[in-house]
Amino acid sequence: MVARVVAALFVLLFWLPIITPSSPSLSVCIVGSGIGGSSVAHFLREYSSPSASVSIRVFERRGVVGGRMARVAVGGESFEAGGAILHPKNYYALNYTKLIGLKIRWPNATSASDGREDDGDFGIWDGKSFVFKTWRVNSKLPFVDKIVPLANKALLFWRYGFSLIRMDNFVQRTVNNFLKYYESTNSRPVFETVDDMLKWAGLYNLTGNTLEEELISLGLSPLLIRELITVITRINYGQGVSISGLAGAVSLAGSGGDLWSVEGGNWQMAAGLINRSNVTLHLHEAIESISNLGNYYELNSSQGNSYKCEVAVVAIPLDEVDICFDPPVSIPPRKLQHTHATFVRGLLNPAYFGLRYVEEIPELVSTIEDPGVPFLSISVLKRHDEKEATYKVFSREAMADALLDQIFSVRKETSRIDWGAYPYYKAPEVFAPFILDGRHLYYVNAFENAASTMETSAVAAENVARLILSRHFGDVPLKLSASESSPANTGLHLEL
Ligand SMILES: Cc1cc2nc3c(=O)[nH]c(=O)nc-3n(C[C@H](O)[C@H](O)[C@H](O)COP(=O)(O)OP(=O)(O)OC[C@H]3O[C@@H](n4cnc5c(N)ncnc54)[C@H](O)[C@@H]3O)c2cc1C
Repeated sequence: MVARVVAALFVLLFWLPIITPSSPSLSVCIVGSGIGGSSVAHFLREYSSPSASVSIRVFERRGVVGGRMARVAVGGESFEAGGAILHPKNYYALNYTKLIGLKIRWPNATSASDGREDDGDFGIWDGKSFVFKTWRVNSKLPFVDKIVPLANKALLFWRYGFSLIRMDNFVQRTVNNFLKYYESTNSRPVFETVDDMLKWAGLYNLTGNTLEEELISLGLSPLLIRELITVITRINYGQGVSISGLAGAVSLAGSGGDLWSVEGGNWQMAAGLINRSNVTLHLHEAIESISNLGNYYELNSSQGNSYKCEVAVVAIPLDEVDICFDPPVSIPPRKLQHTHATFVRGLLNPAYFGLRYVEEIPELVSTIEDPGVPFLSISVLKRHDEKEATYKVFSREAMADALLDQIFSVRKETSRIDWGAYPYYKAPEVFAPFILDGRHLYYVNAFENAASTMETSAVAAENVARLILSRHFGDVPLKLSASESSPANTGLHLEL
Protein backbone atom coordinates (compact mmCIF):
# COMPACT_ATOMS: atom_id res chain seq x y z
CA MET A 1 0.00 0.00 0.00
CA VAL A 2 2.76 2.42 1.08
CA ALA A 3 4.72 1.52 -2.04
CA ARG A 4 1.68 2.33 -4.21
CA VAL A 5 1.23 5.77 -2.57
CA VAL A 6 4.94 6.52 -3.00
CA ALA A 7 4.74 5.46 -6.64
CA ALA A 8 1.66 7.65 -7.19
CA LEU A 9 3.41 10.62 -5.54
CA PHE A 10 6.48 10.05 -7.68
CA VAL A 11 4.39 10.00 -10.86
CA LEU A 12 2.58 13.15 -9.74
CA LEU A 13 5.80 15.00 -8.89
CA PHE A 14 7.43 13.92 -12.13
CA TRP A 15 4.55 14.82 -14.40
CA LEU A 16 3.13 17.85 -12.61
CA PRO A 17 5.48 20.39 -14.19
CA ILE A 18 4.77 18.89 -17.58
CA ILE A 19 0.98 18.66 -17.37
CA THR A 20 0.58 22.08 -15.66
CA PRO A 21 1.01 24.77 -18.33
CA SER A 22 4.14 26.74 -17.36
CA SER A 23 3.56 30.48 -16.91
CA PRO A 24 4.41 32.41 -20.07
CA SER A 25 7.65 34.34 -19.82
CA LEU A 26 9.41 37.06 -21.77
CA SER A 27 12.70 38.96 -21.46
CA VAL A 28 12.88 42.44 -22.99
CA CYS A 29 15.93 44.71 -23.39
CA ILE A 30 15.11 48.37 -24.04
CA VAL A 31 17.79 50.72 -25.38
CA GLY A 32 17.13 54.31 -24.26
CA SER A 33 15.50 55.72 -21.12
CA GLY A 34 13.69 58.70 -22.63
CA ILE A 35 9.93 59.01 -22.64
CA GLY A 36 9.83 56.38 -25.43
CA GLY A 37 11.84 53.66 -23.66
CA SER A 38 10.27 54.29 -20.25
CA SER A 39 6.77 54.22 -21.79
CA VAL A 40 7.46 50.84 -23.44
CA ALA A 41 8.44 49.47 -20.00
CA HIS A 42 5.32 51.01 -18.44
CA PHE A 43 2.90 49.63 -21.01
CA LEU A 44 4.53 46.18 -21.02
CA ARG A 45 3.77 45.99 -17.29
CA GLU A 46 0.36 47.54 -17.72
CA TYR A 47 -0.76 45.18 -20.47
CA SER A 48 0.91 41.86 -19.70
CA SER A 49 -1.17 39.20 -18.05
CA PRO A 50 -0.50 38.83 -14.29
CA SER A 51 0.44 35.18 -14.88
CA ALA A 52 3.17 36.16 -17.37
CA SER A 53 6.69 36.59 -16.08
CA VAL A 54 8.15 39.56 -17.95
CA SER A 55 11.68 40.75 -17.15
CA ILE A 56 12.71 44.17 -18.42
CA ARG A 57 16.14 45.80 -18.68
CA VAL A 58 16.58 49.45 -19.69
CA PHE A 59 19.95 50.69 -20.94
CA GLU A 60 20.95 54.35 -20.78
CA ARG A 61 24.32 55.63 -21.94
CA ARG A 62 24.14 58.70 -19.69
CA GLY A 63 24.02 58.89 -15.90
CA VAL A 64 20.42 60.14 -15.82
CA VAL A 65 17.18 59.00 -17.41
CA GLY A 66 14.88 61.15 -19.55
CA GLY A 67 16.91 61.73 -22.72
CA ARG A 68 15.77 64.88 -24.50
CA MET A 69 13.67 65.84 -21.47
CA ALA A 70 16.88 67.15 -19.93
CA ARG A 71 17.46 70.11 -17.59
CA VAL A 72 20.18 72.75 -17.67
CA ALA A 73 21.57 74.65 -14.68
CA VAL A 74 22.03 78.41 -15.16
CA GLY A 75 22.99 80.70 -12.30
CA GLY A 76 22.21 77.99 -9.74
CA GLU A 77 18.68 77.45 -11.09
CA SER A 78 17.45 74.64 -13.29
CA PHE A 79 15.44 75.01 -16.52
CA GLU A 80 14.08 72.71 -19.25
CA ALA A 81 16.80 72.38 -21.90
CA GLY A 82 14.97 70.14 -24.39
CA GLY A 83 11.34 68.97 -24.45
CA ALA A 84 9.70 71.78 -22.53
CA ILE A 85 5.98 72.15 -23.10
CA LEU A 86 3.05 69.77 -23.28
CA HIS A 87 -0.35 70.22 -24.91
CA PRO A 88 -3.50 70.08 -22.74
CA LYS A 89 -4.62 67.02 -24.74
CA ASN A 90 -1.34 65.09 -24.23
CA TYR A 91 -3.29 62.48 -22.28
CA TYR A 92 -0.52 59.95 -21.69
CA ALA A 93 1.72 62.65 -20.22
CA LEU A 94 -1.19 63.88 -18.09
CA ASN A 95 -1.85 60.34 -16.91
CA TYR A 96 1.81 59.82 -16.09
CA THR A 97 1.88 62.92 -13.89
CA LYS A 98 -1.21 61.68 -12.02
CA LEU A 99 0.10 58.14 -11.71
CA ILE A 100 3.50 59.23 -10.43
CA GLY A 101 2.15 62.06 -8.28
CA LEU A 102 3.90 64.92 -10.09
CA LYS A 103 2.74 68.52 -10.09
CA ILE A 104 1.74 70.42 -13.19
CA ARG A 105 3.37 73.77 -13.87
CA TRP A 106 1.73 76.34 -16.09
CA PRO A 107 4.35 78.50 -17.88
CA ASN A 108 4.71 82.01 -16.51
CA ALA A 109 2.64 81.00 -13.51
CA THR A 110 2.14 83.83 -11.05
CA SER A 111 0.10 84.05 -7.94
CA ALA A 112 -3.10 83.69 -9.95
CA SER A 113 -5.45 81.31 -8.15
CA ASP A 114 -5.17 78.57 -10.76
CA GLY A 115 -1.46 79.21 -11.18
CA ARG A 116 -1.95 80.36 -14.75
CA GLU A 117 -1.72 83.62 -16.61
CA ASP A 118 -1.63 84.52 -20.26
CA ASP A 119 1.74 84.11 -21.92
CA GLY A 120 3.97 87.17 -22.18
CA ASP A 121 4.16 89.35 -25.26
CA PHE A 122 5.84 88.26 -28.45
CA GLY A 123 7.30 89.92 -31.50
CA ILE A 124 8.34 88.85 -34.99
CA TRP A 125 11.83 90.09 -35.85
CA ASP A 126 12.98 90.19 -39.50
CA GLY A 127 16.60 91.12 -38.77
CA LYS A 128 15.93 94.87 -39.02
CA SER A 129 12.75 95.57 -37.13
CA PHE A 130 9.79 93.97 -35.40
CA VAL A 131 7.22 93.44 -38.17
CA PHE A 132 4.65 92.49 -35.55
CA LYS A 133 4.45 92.92 -31.79
CA THR A 134 1.77 92.19 -29.22
CA TRP A 135 1.15 94.36 -26.17
CA ARG A 136 2.52 93.50 -22.77
CA VAL A 137 0.45 93.64 -19.57
CA ASN A 138 2.28 95.47 -16.82
CA SER A 139 -0.73 96.39 -14.83
CA LYS A 140 -2.08 95.14 -11.53
CA LEU A 141 -5.58 96.20 -12.59
CA PRO A 142 -7.73 93.13 -13.30
CA PHE A 143 -9.71 94.79 -16.10
CA VAL A 144 -6.47 95.65 -17.94
CA ASP A 145 -5.37 92.03 -17.54
CA LYS A 146 -8.55 91.01 -19.32
CA ILE A 147 -8.49 93.68 -22.03
CA VAL A 148 -4.89 93.27 -23.20
CA PRO A 149 -5.21 89.61 -24.33
CA LEU A 150 -8.37 90.60 -26.21
CA ALA A 151 -6.58 93.55 -27.78
CA ASN A 152 -3.73 91.23 -28.79
CA LYS A 153 -6.21 88.88 -30.46
CA ALA A 154 -7.64 91.88 -32.32
CA LEU A 155 -4.12 92.89 -33.39
CA LEU A 156 -3.47 89.42 -34.77
CA PHE A 157 -6.83 89.43 -36.54
CA TRP A 158 -6.15 92.87 -38.00
CA ARG A 159 -2.88 91.63 -39.55
CA TYR A 160 -3.79 88.09 -40.61
CA GLY A 161 -7.59 88.18 -40.96
CA PHE A 162 -9.81 85.11 -41.44
CA SER A 163 -6.81 82.96 -42.35
CA LEU A 164 -6.29 82.60 -38.58
CA ILE A 165 -9.62 80.78 -38.30
CA ARG A 166 -8.69 78.46 -41.18
CA MET A 167 -5.37 77.76 -39.46
CA ASP A 168 -7.15 76.99 -36.21
CA ASN A 169 -9.60 74.62 -37.95
CA PHE A 170 -6.69 72.79 -39.58
CA VAL A 171 -4.98 72.31 -36.20
CA GLN A 172 -8.21 71.23 -34.45
CA ARG A 173 -8.96 68.65 -37.17
CA THR A 174 -5.47 67.17 -36.81
CA VAL A 175 -5.65 67.11 -33.00
CA ASN A 176 -9.08 65.41 -33.17
CA ASN A 177 -7.72 62.73 -35.50
CA PHE A 178 -4.76 62.20 -33.15
CA LEU A 179 -7.18 61.62 -30.26
CA LYS A 180 -8.14 58.30 -31.90
CA TYR A 181 -4.92 56.88 -30.43
CA TYR A 182 -6.52 57.10 -26.97
CA GLU A 183 -9.52 54.99 -27.94
CA SER A 184 -10.05 51.75 -26.07
CA THR A 185 -7.75 48.86 -27.00
CA ASN A 186 -10.92 46.88 -27.73
CA SER A 187 -11.54 48.91 -30.87
CA ARG A 188 -8.01 50.18 -31.61
CA PRO A 189 -5.83 47.82 -33.68
CA VAL A 190 -2.18 47.03 -32.98
CA PHE A 191 -0.14 48.53 -35.81
CA GLU A 192 2.85 46.85 -37.42
CA THR A 193 3.85 49.92 -39.44
CA VAL A 194 3.84 53.66 -38.90
CA ASP A 195 2.06 54.03 -42.25
CA ASP A 196 -0.86 51.87 -41.04
CA MET A 197 -0.98 53.69 -37.71
CA LEU A 198 -1.21 57.09 -39.43
CA LYS A 199 -3.70 55.90 -42.06
CA TRP A 200 -6.03 54.52 -39.38
CA ALA A 201 -6.18 57.93 -37.66
CA GLY A 202 -6.59 59.82 -40.94
CA LEU A 203 -3.17 61.49 -40.55
CA TYR A 204 -1.15 59.80 -43.26
CA ASN A 205 -2.07 62.16 -46.11
CA LEU A 206 -0.64 65.06 -44.14
CA THR A 207 2.81 63.46 -44.43
CA GLY A 208 2.60 63.55 -48.24
CA ASN A 209 2.63 67.34 -48.59
CA THR A 210 4.65 70.14 -47.09
CA LEU A 211 2.97 72.35 -44.51
CA GLU A 212 3.11 75.23 -46.98
CA GLU A 213 1.35 73.19 -49.72
CA GLU A 214 -1.26 72.06 -47.21
CA LEU A 215 -2.00 75.58 -45.99
CA ILE A 216 -2.08 77.13 -49.46
CA SER A 217 -4.62 74.49 -50.51
CA LEU A 218 -6.74 75.54 -47.51
CA GLY A 219 -6.62 79.16 -48.66
CA LEU A 220 -4.39 80.64 -45.94
CA SER A 221 -2.85 83.99 -46.75
CA PRO A 222 0.84 84.08 -47.82
CA LEU A 223 1.48 86.71 -45.10
CA LEU A 224 0.26 84.40 -42.34
CA ILE A 225 2.34 81.51 -43.71
CA ARG A 226 5.46 83.66 -44.15
CA GLU A 227 5.22 85.24 -40.71
CA LEU A 228 3.26 83.68 -37.86
CA ILE A 229 3.30 80.07 -39.08
CA THR A 230 6.97 80.16 -40.07
CA VAL A 231 8.02 81.58 -36.71
CA ILE A 232 6.16 78.78 -34.92
CA THR A 233 7.76 75.97 -36.96
CA ARG A 234 11.16 77.62 -36.50
CA ILE A 235 10.71 77.70 -32.71
CA ASN A 236 9.35 74.15 -32.40
CA TYR A 237 11.32 72.29 -35.09
CA GLY A 238 14.08 74.72 -36.13
CA GLN A 239 12.75 74.46 -39.70
CA GLY A 240 10.53 76.47 -42.02
CA VAL A 241 7.22 75.60 -43.69
CA SER A 242 8.77 72.93 -45.96
CA ILE A 243 8.30 70.41 -43.13
CA SER A 244 5.49 67.88 -43.65
CA GLY A 245 1.90 68.98 -43.08
CA LEU A 246 1.63 66.63 -40.09
CA ALA A 247 4.80 67.82 -38.31
CA GLY A 248 3.57 71.36 -39.07
CA ALA A 249 0.13 70.80 -37.56
CA VAL A 250 1.69 69.29 -34.42
CA SER A 251 4.03 72.25 -34.19
CA LEU A 252 1.13 74.71 -34.53
CA ALA A 253 -0.84 72.81 -31.87
CA GLY A 254 2.13 73.35 -29.56
CA SER A 255 1.75 77.10 -29.82
CA GLY A 256 -1.76 77.35 -28.43
CA GLY A 257 -2.95 78.15 -24.92
CA ASP A 258 -2.93 76.10 -21.70
CA LEU A 259 0.46 74.53 -22.42
CA TRP A 260 2.05 72.93 -19.38
CA SER A 261 5.13 71.17 -18.05
CA VAL A 262 6.04 69.11 -15.00
CA GLU A 263 7.06 71.08 -11.93
CA GLY A 264 10.74 70.31 -11.32
CA GLY A 265 11.32 68.79 -14.75
CA ASN A 266 9.62 66.68 -17.40
CA TRP A 267 12.37 64.01 -17.05
CA GLN A 268 10.58 62.90 -13.87
CA MET A 269 7.95 61.24 -16.05
CA ALA A 270 10.59 58.82 -17.39
CA ALA A 271 12.10 58.34 -13.92
CA GLY A 272 8.67 57.63 -12.38
CA LEU A 273 7.65 55.16 -15.08
CA ILE A 274 10.94 53.28 -14.76
CA ASN A 275 10.65 53.22 -10.96
CA ARG A 276 7.18 51.75 -10.92
CA SER A 277 7.72 49.23 -13.75
CA ASN A 278 10.05 46.85 -11.90
CA VAL A 279 12.86 47.38 -14.37
CA THR A 280 16.59 46.64 -14.10
CA LEU A 281 18.12 49.98 -15.05
CA HIS A 282 21.66 50.10 -16.43
CA LEU A 283 22.95 53.69 -16.29
CA HIS A 284 26.24 54.71 -17.95
CA GLU A 285 25.91 51.69 -20.22
CA ALA A 286 25.63 52.31 -23.97
CA ILE A 287 24.56 49.45 -26.20
CA GLU A 288 27.08 49.04 -29.01
CA SER A 289 25.78 45.98 -30.84
CA ILE A 290 22.61 43.89 -31.15
CA SER A 291 22.95 40.42 -32.68
CA ASN A 292 20.18 38.01 -33.53
CA LEU A 293 21.30 34.60 -32.24
CA GLY A 294 18.20 32.62 -33.16
CA ASN A 295 15.87 32.44 -30.17
CA TYR A 296 17.27 35.54 -28.52
CA TYR A 297 19.20 38.76 -29.11
CA GLU A 298 22.60 39.43 -27.63
CA LEU A 299 23.27 43.04 -26.67
CA ASN A 300 26.86 44.10 -26.06
CA SER A 301 27.53 47.21 -24.02
CA SER A 302 30.23 49.83 -23.56
CA GLN A 303 30.96 48.20 -20.16
CA GLY A 304 32.03 45.00 -21.89
CA ASN A 305 28.90 43.18 -20.70
CA SER A 306 26.59 41.08 -22.83
CA TYR A 307 22.90 40.49 -22.21
CA LYS A 308 20.46 38.01 -23.73
CA CYS A 309 16.83 38.97 -24.36
CA GLU A 310 14.06 37.43 -26.44
CA VAL A 311 12.93 40.92 -27.47
CA ALA A 312 15.09 43.99 -28.16
CA VAL A 313 13.56 47.47 -28.34
CA VAL A 314 15.39 50.44 -29.84
CA ALA A 315 13.97 53.60 -28.22
CA ILE A 316 16.47 56.09 -29.62
CA PRO A 317 16.70 57.80 -33.00
CA LEU A 318 19.12 55.62 -34.99
CA ASP A 319 20.27 58.48 -37.22
CA GLU A 320 23.38 59.55 -35.32
CA VAL A 321 24.25 56.59 -33.10
CA ASP A 322 26.59 53.82 -33.99
CA ILE A 323 24.88 50.56 -33.00
CA CYS A 324 26.10 47.57 -34.99
CA PHE A 325 23.26 45.21 -35.97
CA ASP A 326 23.94 41.61 -36.93
CA PRO A 327 22.42 40.85 -39.36
CA PRO A 328 22.36 44.48 -40.56
CA VAL A 329 19.02 46.30 -40.61
CA SER A 330 17.97 48.61 -43.40
CA ILE A 331 15.99 51.80 -42.71
CA PRO A 332 15.29 54.81 -44.93
CA PRO A 333 17.96 57.50 -44.54
CA ARG A 334 16.96 60.34 -42.21
CA LYS A 335 18.83 63.44 -41.08
CA LEU A 336 18.44 65.07 -37.69
CA GLN A 337 17.88 68.81 -37.40
CA HIS A 338 20.44 70.25 -35.00
CA THR A 339 19.17 72.96 -32.70
CA HIS A 340 21.68 74.88 -30.62
CA ALA A 341 20.18 75.90 -27.30
CA THR A 342 22.14 78.70 -25.64
CA PHE A 343 21.18 79.75 -22.12
CA VAL A 344 22.26 83.19 -20.96
CA ARG A 345 21.88 84.87 -17.60
CA GLY A 346 22.20 88.58 -18.28
CA LEU A 347 20.29 91.27 -20.15
CA LEU A 348 19.37 91.77 -23.80
CA ASN A 349 20.81 94.78 -25.59
CA PRO A 350 17.97 97.03 -26.84
CA ALA A 351 20.31 98.70 -29.36
CA TYR A 352 20.70 95.39 -31.22
CA PHE A 353 16.96 95.50 -31.88
CA GLY A 354 16.94 99.22 -32.74
CA LEU A 355 15.17 100.03 -29.45
CA ARG A 356 16.00 102.40 -26.60
CA TYR A 357 14.84 100.43 -23.58
CA VAL A 358 15.18 96.75 -22.74
CA GLU A 359 11.52 96.72 -21.57
CA GLU A 360 10.51 97.29 -25.20
CA ILE A 361 11.92 93.91 -26.25
CA PRO A 362 9.18 91.24 -26.24
CA GLU A 363 9.42 88.26 -23.87
CA LEU A 364 9.53 86.01 -26.92
CA VAL A 365 11.49 87.26 -29.93
CA SER A 366 10.60 85.02 -32.86
CA THR A 367 12.07 85.25 -36.36
CA ILE A 368 11.14 84.71 -39.99
CA GLU A 369 13.23 82.81 -42.58
CA ASP A 370 16.02 85.15 -43.63
CA PRO A 371 19.69 84.21 -44.07
CA GLY A 372 20.66 87.41 -42.25
CA VAL A 373 18.86 86.44 -39.02
CA PRO A 374 21.35 84.52 -36.85
CA PHE A 375 18.90 82.90 -34.42
CA LEU A 376 15.51 81.16 -34.41
CA SER A 377 14.12 82.64 -31.20
CA ILE A 378 15.01 84.23 -27.88
CA SER A 379 12.71 83.74 -24.92
CA VAL A 380 12.76 84.84 -21.31
CA LEU A 381 12.79 81.80 -19.01
CA LYS A 382 12.83 83.84 -15.82
CA ARG A 383 13.01 87.54 -15.06
CA HIS A 384 15.10 87.97 -11.88
CA ASP A 385 14.82 91.78 -11.68
CA GLU A 386 14.96 94.76 -14.08
CA LYS A 387 18.66 94.19 -14.67
CA GLU A 388 18.81 90.45 -15.03
CA ALA A 389 16.94 87.58 -16.65
CA THR A 390 17.63 84.03 -17.84
CA TYR A 391 17.11 83.63 -21.59
CA LYS A 392 16.97 80.67 -23.98
CA VAL A 393 18.29 81.26 -27.50
CA PHE A 394 17.54 78.69 -30.22
CA SER A 395 19.68 78.76 -33.36
CA ARG A 396 20.68 76.49 -36.25
CA GLU A 397 24.37 77.28 -35.82
CA ALA A 398 26.38 77.63 -32.61
CA MET A 399 26.13 81.18 -31.19
CA ALA A 400 29.65 82.63 -31.12
CA ASP A 401 30.68 84.79 -28.16
CA ALA A 402 31.13 87.82 -30.42
CA LEU A 403 27.53 87.52 -31.66
CA LEU A 404 26.16 87.01 -28.16
CA ASP A 405 28.04 90.14 -27.05
CA GLN A 406 26.14 92.14 -29.67
CA ILE A 407 22.76 90.70 -28.66
CA PHE A 408 23.31 90.94 -24.89
CA SER A 409 24.54 94.02 -23.03
CA VAL A 410 25.16 91.93 -19.90
CA ARG A 411 26.20 88.26 -20.00
CA LYS A 412 27.06 86.76 -16.62
CA GLU A 413 26.72 83.09 -17.48
CA THR A 414 26.33 81.18 -20.74
CA SER A 415 25.60 77.51 -21.27
CA ARG A 416 25.38 75.78 -24.66
CA ILE A 417 23.78 72.51 -25.84
CA ASP A 418 23.97 71.19 -29.40
CA TRP A 419 20.91 68.98 -29.78
CA GLY A 420 20.44 66.36 -32.49
CA ALA A 421 16.97 67.58 -31.80
CA TYR A 422 14.35 66.03 -34.11
CA PRO A 423 14.15 64.69 -37.66
CA TYR A 424 14.74 67.00 -40.58
CA TYR A 425 11.17 66.86 -41.89
CA LYS A 426 10.28 66.67 -45.57
CA ALA A 427 7.39 65.64 -47.76
CA PRO A 428 6.60 62.95 -48.64
CA GLU A 429 7.96 61.23 -45.53
CA VAL A 430 9.18 57.63 -45.77
CA PHE A 431 8.88 55.66 -42.54
CA ALA A 432 11.12 52.99 -41.04
CA PRO A 433 9.18 49.93 -39.81
CA PHE A 434 8.30 49.35 -36.13
CA ILE A 435 9.67 45.79 -36.56
CA LEU A 436 13.22 46.16 -37.85
CA ASP A 437 13.98 42.53 -38.73
CA GLY A 438 10.61 40.84 -39.18
CA ARG A 439 11.24 39.07 -35.83
CA HIS A 440 11.46 40.64 -32.37
CA LEU A 441 13.62 43.73 -32.87
CA TYR A 442 11.45 46.84 -32.48
CA TYR A 443 12.02 50.54 -33.28
CA VAL A 444 9.89 53.07 -31.36
CA ASN A 445 11.43 56.16 -32.98
CA ALA A 446 10.25 55.11 -36.44
CA PHE A 447 7.25 57.28 -35.47
CA GLU A 448 9.40 60.41 -35.08
CA ASN A 449 9.15 61.12 -38.83
CA ALA A 450 5.47 61.82 -38.20
CA ALA A 451 6.23 64.33 -35.42
CA SER A 452 8.69 64.52 -32.54
CA THR A 453 7.12 65.29 -29.18
CA MET A 454 7.10 63.70 -25.75
CA GLU A 455 3.50 62.59 -26.30
CA THR A 456 4.01 61.11 -29.78
CA SER A 457 6.92 59.07 -28.33
CA ALA A 458 4.56 57.77 -25.62
CA VAL A 459 1.84 56.97 -28.19
CA ALA A 460 4.34 55.08 -30.38
CA ALA A 461 5.68 53.25 -27.32
CA GLU A 462 2.20 52.14 -26.28
CA ASN A 463 1.67 50.61 -29.71
CA VAL A 464 5.08 48.91 -29.65
CA ALA A 465 4.34 47.39 -26.20
CA ARG A 466 1.07 45.94 -27.50
CA LEU A 467 2.82 44.73 -30.66
CA ILE A 468 5.47 42.91 -28.58
CA LEU A 469 2.91 41.20 -26.34
CA SER A 470 0.52 40.22 -29.11
CA ARG A 471 3.30 38.86 -31.34
CA HIS A 472 5.12 37.04 -28.57
CA PHE A 473 2.20 35.52 -26.70
CA GLY A 474 0.06 35.01 -29.79
CA ASP A 475 -3.50 34.42 -28.63
CA VAL A 476 -2.77 34.99 -24.93
CA PRO A 477 -5.24 37.75 -24.09
CA LEU A 478 -3.93 41.02 -22.80
CA LYS A 479 -4.60 41.79 -19.18
CA LEU A 480 -8.22 42.88 -18.78
CA SER A 481 -7.27 46.24 -17.38
CA ALA A 482 -5.47 47.07 -20.62
CA SER A 483 -8.48 48.68 -22.21
CA GLU A 484 -9.52 50.21 -18.93
CA SER A 485 -6.14 51.86 -18.46
CA SER A 486 -6.41 53.70 -21.76
CA PRO A 487 -6.67 57.42 -20.93
CA ALA A 488 -9.86 57.57 -22.94
CA ASN A 489 -11.43 55.20 -20.42
CA THR A 490 -9.95 56.39 -17.16
CA GLY A 491 -11.37 59.88 -17.50
CA LEU A 492 -8.26 61.18 -15.73
CA HIS A 493 -7.83 64.03 -18.14
CA LEU A 494 -11.32 65.29 -17.50
CA GLU A 495 -10.26 66.43 -14.07
CA LEU A 496 -7.54 68.65 -15.45
C1 LIG B 1 15.52 71.55 -27.94
C2 LIG B 1 14.32 70.65 -27.98
C3 LIG B 1 13.07 71.17 -27.70
C4 LIG B 1 11.95 70.33 -27.70
N1 LIG B 1 10.75 70.86 -27.32
C5 LIG B 1 9.70 70.01 -27.14
C6 LIG B 1 8.52 70.48 -26.54
O1 LIG B 1 8.42 71.63 -26.13
N2 LIG B 1 7.49 69.60 -26.39
C7 LIG B 1 7.59 68.28 -26.77
O2 LIG B 1 6.63 67.52 -26.58
N3 LIG B 1 8.72 67.82 -27.34
C8 LIG B 1 9.78 68.63 -27.51
N4 LIG B 1 10.95 68.15 -28.03
C9 LIG B 1 10.99 66.77 -28.53
C10 LIG B 1 11.01 65.75 -27.40
O3 LIG B 1 11.93 66.14 -26.41
C11 LIG B 1 11.37 64.38 -27.97
O4 LIG B 1 10.51 64.07 -29.03
C12 LIG B 1 11.23 63.26 -26.94
O5 LIG B 1 11.75 63.63 -25.69
C13 LIG B 1 11.96 62.04 -27.50
O6 LIG B 1 11.97 61.01 -26.53
P1 LIG B 1 12.61 59.59 -26.88
O7 LIG B 1 12.46 58.76 -25.68
O8 LIG B 1 11.99 59.08 -28.13
O9 LIG B 1 14.13 59.87 -27.22
P2 LIG B 1 15.26 60.48 -26.27
O10 LIG B 1 14.68 61.41 -25.30
O11 LIG B 1 16.31 60.99 -27.18
O12 LIG B 1 15.81 59.23 -25.44
C14 LIG B 1 16.79 58.36 -25.93
C15 LIG B 1 17.73 58.00 -24.79
O13 LIG B 1 18.60 56.97 -25.24
C16 LIG B 1 19.92 57.22 -24.79
N5 LIG B 1 20.82 56.52 -25.73
C17 LIG B 1 21.19 56.90 -26.97
N6 LIG B 1 21.99 55.98 -27.51
C18 LIG B 1 22.11 54.99 -26.61
C19 LIG B 1 22.80 53.73 -26.60
N7 LIG B 1 23.51 53.32 -27.65
N8 LIG B 1 22.71 52.94 -25.50
C20 LIG B 1 21.98 53.35 -24.42
N9 LIG B 1 21.32 54.52 -24.37
C21 LIG B 1 21.37 55.32 -25.47
C22 LIG B 1 20.03 58.73 -24.81
O14 LIG B 1 21.06 59.17 -23.93
C23 LIG B 1 18.63 59.15 -24.36
O15 LIG B 1 18.58 59.26 -22.95
C24 LIG B 1 12.09 68.96 -28.03
C25 LIG B 1 13.35 68.44 -28.31
C26 LIG B 1 14.46 69.26 -28.28
C27 LIG B 1 15.81 68.68 -28.54
